[in-house]
Amino acid sequence: MTTISFSDLRLSEAILRALEAKNYKTPTPIQAGAIPELLAERDLLGIAQTGTGKTAAFALPMLELLSKRGGRAKPRAPRALILTPTRELASQIGESFTAYGKHLSVNNRVIFGGVGQEPQVRALKAGVDVLVATPGRLLDLMEQRHVSLDAVEIFVLDEADRMLDMGFIHDVRRVINVLPRERQSLLFSATMPKDIVELANKILRNPLRIEVTPQATTAEKVVQHVLFVEKNDKRALLAEILKDPEIQRTLVFTRTKHGANRAAEYLAKARIPAEAIHGNKSQSARERALENFRAGKTRVLVATDIAARGIDVPGITHVINFDLPNVPESYVHRIGRTARAGRAGVALSFCDIEEREFLRDIEKLIGLKLNVVENHPFKSTLPMGTRPPPSAPTNNRRPPARRNNRRGGGGGGRSYHARS
Ligand code: AMP
Repeated sequence: MTTISFSDLRLSEAILRALEAKNYKTPTPIQAGAIPELLAERDLLGIAQTGTGKTAAFALPMLELLSKRGGRAKPRAPRALILTPTRELASQIGESFTAYGKHLSVNNRVIFGGVGQEPQVRALKAGVDVLVATPGRLLDLMEQRHVSLDAVEIFVLDEADRMLDMGFIHDVRRVINVLPRERQSLLFSATMPKDIVELANKILRNPLRIEVTPQATTAEKVVQHVLFVEKNDKRALLAEILKDPEIQRTLVFTRTKHGANRAAEYLAKARIPAEAIHGNKSQSARERALENFRAGKTRVLVATDIAARGIDVPGITHVINFDLPNVPESYVHRIGRTARAGRAGVALSFCDIEEREFLRDIEKLIGLKLNVVENHPFKSTLPMGTRPPPSAPTNNRRPPARRNNRRGGGGGGRSYHARS
């Protein structure tokens, strides 16, 4: 099989230089498949999630087409629109357009709610080629006539299934209804529930369909909970949770080696088969522990981030963050150890009062608010104002009936299992 390079994809010199600066060597599968077809102005149905390189798959051909066609956006009339569900995604997409288009004269602007609208209104008035928006703020600005979609040549609906989960589908439909009929449309969704199939049929014309799965499943399939607990109660809470036999192969993360040892010892005393791996253990001790975990002899492996790097054990049902990582990206790496190969997984995060800022950072990064498990025996009551503001999107991967805080609402129905 020959490897395709970006220069095979008929992208201009200006874009190739920007990609070089980003150190992208070869296109990802979705990029290789989508870019030539999008340059030929075809519609696209991309079944793909974050981590597959989907942003560049649409951003590169869009920049190329808009640049080739030339001209500047008229005031309040963007030439391309990308709708995305969260402000974090919107910002990331905007940054990608800026990076990939740095040698072109195609500008972009990101708009979302929760911040003052004046700077956004001013930018729109000055003319925006590529508008990246969350649906609510876009509709607000449309109603106030600060923006019109009459000149949109290319429309992208990003993370369509997440839009549906977050209850934005009605807003999305309102936006779609005022788009020009003549346009190129792209729809991306990690999953294709019936409503999204219908939406795709409505907005796409003879689309190219590309389906890709990421190498490691990211947060998408992981049911994520947070348990507020005092620092000193964490070990007891861990043992309590692990009494549940349905919690099978579990990876527990601690911040320190000492913490990993202490947690594993506590569990062993509680007759829960557990071992710790970290940098102070010999290579052979680490390998043995890992082998026992793989073989199912030890149900629980306690690890630090560094020790866990490169561990790829299939069938991990639960990841427990005994300590929250102070680097939010580590959280995503940690929980990516479960829910592999299309299976569902559960991530439980213990959060003491000193870690609440880490929680805020994590929720900001992933664009979700974790479900709070209310009824556990070591619940700590944090003072008011320690949760992120209510404007943050709520945990949006599941319909409300499956949320843990609903499920656990009465009769001791505590449950930490993935239901899918
Ligand atoms: P996305 O799926 O668009 O969120 O992209 C995931 C990550 O992969 C981002 O950090 C991109 O900067 C990076 N990325 C996208 N395409 C490539 C590529 N062809 N080579 C290397 N990194 C890439």
